[in-house]
Amino acid sequence: MAEFDLLITDGNLPDGQVADIGIVKDRIAAIGDLSGSTAARVIDAAGDLVSPPFVDPHFHMDATLSYGTPRINASGTLLEGIALWGELKQIATVDQMVERALAYCDWAVSQGLLAIRSHVDTCDDSLKGVEAMLQVRETVKPYLDLQLVAFPQDGFLRDPTAKANTLRALDMGVDVVGGIPHFERTMEDGRASVRELCEIAAERGLLVDMHCDETDDPLSRHVETLAYEAQRLGLQGRVNGSHLTSMHSMDNYYVSKLLPLMAEAGLSAVPNPLINIVIQGRHDSFPKRRGLTRVKEMQSHGITVGWGQDCVRDPWYPLGTADMLDVAFMGLHVAQMTSPAEMRQCFEMATTESAKILHLEGYGLYEGARASLVILDAGDAIEAIRLRPARLAVISKGRVVSETPRADARLDLPGRPAGVRRRHHHAN
Ligand SMILES: [Zn+2]
Repeated sequence: MAEFDLLITDGNLPDGQVADIGIVKDRIAAIGDLSGSTAARVIDAAGDLVSPPFVDPHFHMDATLSYGTPRINASGTLLEGIALWGELKQIATVDQMVERALAYCDWAVSQGLLAIRSHVDTCDDSLKGVEAMLQVRETVKPYLDLQLVAFPQDGFLRDPTAKANTLRALDMGVDVVGGIPHFERTMEDGRASVRELCEIAAERGLLVDMHCDETDDPLSRHVETLAYEAQRLGLQGRVNGSHLTSMHSMDNYYVSKLLPLMAEAGLSAVPNPLINIVIQGRHDSFPKRRGLTRVKEMQSHGITVGWGQDCVRDPWYPLGTADMLDVAFMGLHVAQMTSPAEMRQCFEMATTESAKILHLEGYGLYEGARASLVILDAGDAIEAIRLRPARLAVISKGRVVSETPRADARLDLPGRPAGVRRRHHHAN
């Protein structure tokens, strides 16, 4: 009888080690030099990157793959996207939302993306989206962790029934408390919404993840309120601010005070670089602001930051492929994270840093961890971001759930090699 159900040999781990990984049932049973052991199946990963799976800490699965229904966002702004989604959610059925979400989860699995935190709109009296996403969470549970955030898209205080519906959604089993303070009628209402939603989370023992200050307004102050409430209610390490794009435009003195407050409150942050770079700055002429929050500056204060995807083919964004390496690639450019250490950090932000934000159990490459991982056609983490290559094998809870062949090109050039892989060995 074989010692392992599955053995992955000679993989390059993200930290630069080369190791074998032995899997029994749904757990990593051993990691290190396992030469001489036996296994029911062996995958030779020599020279390839073996990483824990990708994690997306910010997504909208109720809206995904709906692009063009009922029309396209002509201005490209956040506000037109919200209005368009308002039209779509009237006509979408539960079955359609389930079908679109499951199709997206197939894409995600094929890209090695095995944990997703998705916001679900709670501003619809029928709560169709909530019903659909709870059904999807159950269906994908054997292979993908889907965490749901109750998200009052039209404003917790601005929409007359949002409060009651958000509480109903939480009662139905939605995992995390969300909000959108910058969309409330006034700064004062925004503050009140953050306060009330954090109190709900504290009472129910839930995590918080708010769309917070997704604006170019340098005077938006909801990040400060979110940090204050996390501190006041003892929610350190349990509250995440998504987007935080206003921080791009804020006064530098004010930010120098804000960053230590965020760190003290144990706030984490999720910028969404693909979406932030296309949606922010739309009201600017030139120069146009990038709108991405201050990633390196938060990290230098010890704040956990993960990359989020936010949208794929929906009212806000026409592109996307469920590839967290696309997100890391854009984030690396816009945040100018180009030193070797910063590029490696960009990979961690699509994997381990985001896993911390989701409080994922058993995540990582260690003995006893959940046997979920991805093997990439790249030599190391930096090369993975550069190539965004094939996911050769994706393993979820000990099972190989997706395989993709290498995408080598055949060349026909005099005196040149017959094929090319675009791998480029370099010191990590
Ligand atoms: Zn979002």
